[in-house]
Amino acid sequence: MHRVVITDCLEPPALIEEGNLSGLAQVDCLMAKSSEVLHGQLVDADAIILYHEVDLTDTLLRGLKQCKIIVRGGVGYDNVDVKIAGELGIPVCNVPDYGVDEVADHTIGLMLGCLRGFTLAERRFRQATTLTPWDRHDVGKVSRTGDRTLGIIGCGRIGSATALRAKALKMRVMIYDPYLRPGMEKVCGGERVDLGYLLKESDVVSMHTPLTEETRHLMDAQALSQMKPTAYLINTSRGAVVDTSALAEALRERRIAGAGIDVLPHEPPSLEDPLIQLWQADHDPPINLTITPHTAYYSEAALLEIREKSSAEVARMLRGEAPWNVVNGEWLKQV
Ligand code: NAD
Repeated sequence: MHRVVITDCLEPPALIEEGNLSGLAQVDCLMAKSSEVLHGQLVDADAIILYHEVDLTDTLLRGLKQCKIIVRGGVGYDNVDVKIAGELGIPVCNVPDYGVDEVADHTIGLMLGCLRGFTLAERRFRQATTLTPWDRHDVGKVSRTGDRTLGIIGCGRIGSATALRAKALKMRVMIYDPYLRPGMEKVCGGERVDLGYLLKESDVVSMHTPLTEETRHLMDAQALSQMKPTAYLINTSRGAVVDTSALAEALRERRIAGAGIDVLPHEPPSLEDPLIQLWQADHDPPINLTITPHTAYYSEAALLEIREKSSAEVARMLRGEAPWNVVNGEWLKQV
C-alpha cells in the first residue's frame, strides 16, 4: 500500500482523496502551517499533494526517498522547487483548470468595483452617522464601462476567460503576452499590443501571468508611472508580480485612480505592509482600493474540483499511467 501525504489545508477525513485512491494508498493529512514542521514527515511518502501554506524546498525535496509524484492542488506552483524535483526524477503536476471561471469572475468583480465606485460609497455609508447626501457624489467620477479599455497582461486560461467577460461588457480588450501563439488573441476578441502601449492606453490593467523571475515586480514604479492617472490596476495572479510598495505610493499620490487586489507577496500580510496600511487608513478623498484575502479561486465547486483532480492525478501515477499536467518536464530526469 502506498502512502499519500496531503501536507496542508485539508483536515481528515479526506474522503474524496481516499475514494480516488482506494486500494492504492492510505492518505495522511498533516495540516502543516509551515514548511518547518514537515521535516522528517515526508521521507516515506509515495506521493505528495500540497496546497499553499507550505513550500517544498530544496532540503525537503532531497529528503524524499520514494516519492513518485508531487501535485500542487492549484494552478501556481511557485512554492515548489520544480527544478530540483525534476533533477530528482519527481514529476510535479498542478491542477490548471479548476478555478478559471471563479478567478475571471472575481477579476471582473474587482474591476467593476473600481470602475463603478461602489466600494467607495459602501465604505463611507457604512461608517457614516448621517446618510445624506444619498446620491452619486460618493462613488467618484464614473465612466461608462463599455467605453473603457481593459489591458490584460498574460492571456492564458484566466486572462482569456477575463477577456471574454470584458467583451460581454462591451469593453475594448488589449493583450500583452509575448508567449501567446499568433492569432490566439482573436479567440477572445482582443488586440495584441506591446506592454508600453497597453500601460498607456488601458483604463484597467489586469495581471494574469504566473510568478516567474521575469514577471516578479513586472508592475513596478516605472510601469505604474506609465498608466493613466484615471486608470485602475487589478491583480488576481500572484502578489509579487506587483511591487506593492510602489503601488501604495502611486495610490497615495493619486498617480493612478485605484486598485483591486486579491493576492499579496506575503500571505497573510503583515499590518505593516504599506499597501495594507494605506487600505486600512482613512483618506480624504477616499482611495479606491479593494483588497480581498486570496479568494478569487474560491467556490465550493472549485474546491471539490481541485481535490478530485489532484487525487486523480496521483492515482494515475500510482497505477503506472502517465500524469496529465506535468509542469517540470524540462528538468525531469528519468531515474
Ligand atoms: P496560464 O499559464 O494559463 O496563463 C499565464 C499566461 O501568462 C500565459 O499565456 C503566458 O504566456 C503568460 N506569460 C508568461 N510570462 C509572461 C510575461 N512575462 N508577460 C506577459 N505574459 C506572460 O495561467 P492561468 O491559469 O491563467 O493563471 C494565471 C495566474 O493566476 C497565475 O499566476 C496563477 O497562479 C494565478 N491564480 C490565482 C488564483 C487566485 O485565487 N487568486 C487562482 C488560480 C490562479
